[in-house]
Amino acid sequence: MRKRKSLTEFKKGVLAGDRVVLSQAITLVESNLETDSKLAGDLVQELLPYAGNSIRVGITGVPGVGKSTFIESFGKMLVDKGKKVAVLAVDPSSQKTKGSILGDKTRMEKLASDKRAFIRPSPSGSTLGGVSSKTREAMLICEAAGFDVILVETVGVGQSEIAVKGMVDFFLLLMLSGAGDELQGIKKGIMEMADGMLINKADGDNLQPAKKAKATYQNALHLFPLGENNWSPKVLIGSSISGMGLPECWQMIEDFQSKMLGNGFWEKNRAEQRLKWLDDSIQALLGRAFYMHPAIQKKLNEGKKQVLEGDLNPMNLARELTSHFLKK
Ligand code: GDP
Repeated sequence: MRKRKSLTEFKKGVLAGDRVVLSQAITLVESNLETDSKLAGDLVQELLPYAGNSIRVGITGVPGVGKSTFIESFGKMLVDKGKKVAVLAVDPSSQKTKGSILGDKTRMEKLASDKRAFIRPSPSGSTLGGVSSKTREAMLICEAAGFDVILVETVGVGQSEIAVKGMVDFFLLLMLSGAGDELQGIKKGIMEMADGMLINKADGDNLQPAKKAKATYQNALHLFPLGENNWSPKVLIGSSISGMGLPECWQMIEDFQSKMLGNGFWEKNRAEQRLKWLDDSIQALLGRAFYMHPAIQKKLNEGKKQVLEGDLNPMNLARELTSHFLKK
């Protein structure tokens, strides 16, 4: 077995932008092994002073809306502008959902081979629409490695959007024209979370319907009250194939950033997100300690049978198990 890197080796490698070490560092923080968690925690702590200097953009939309094609074209445009772009992406092979993305091994091929970009598919298991519980840590490590735009892709399944919204600066929703909201599976709540929307695939015969959809969505968004940050979400049209609308999309994100930096909301939002990070970490650690506890595991397995049979009230079992755990 190969010797594991030391904290110093990890830190040096990440700060030097070494992609192999960067990948290994993300694997380390994603690890659920007890033996990795101390080193992972120390590494994140060491890298924190070097992190934070990026624009974090969450990108969502139903499967097939064109997220990976968009990220590829948008990412390419950004690296050509001199940005270093990291993508934390949904790995189609790890998704249970079927559809056009399944088995698509060529996603973001061009961007993936570009030295100025780094693409990290999310690990299978314990993910929510591609967002792992360690996406934040992965983001910070990428920032320490010098990436200044972080794109976090998620599939439109509801909960994952909430998770991503809680860790990015700007939340972009990709939509299609010509399909009703219900058809697109987009809930009003998700539209409400968006800082910007882009009606995608606005090319060929789709261009006119996209323009119409833009007006419709812009009107719909106006009905939502302005958020605390005083930003009115914009609706754009774009095509990842022709490239139309992509520069405008970046401009929108930069305008957002300068406005938020100006009104103090940028830092306020990030500060609140750090509290959320604390909360999530406590819950994850507590949950893990609880479920890994041998006596709890035994009692839980026995209790589950009775719950399945309807012989035991789940609430009571939960209470009994947690008080047993807390007495330990
Ligand atoms: P995802 O599931 O949201 O990641 O969607 P994909 O990026 O895999 O795209 C789904 C399909 O839409 C693919 O066949 C793409 O070629 C096509 N597509 C993506 N973007 C565009 C676009 O801007 N215009 C057109 N015409 N097709 C697109």
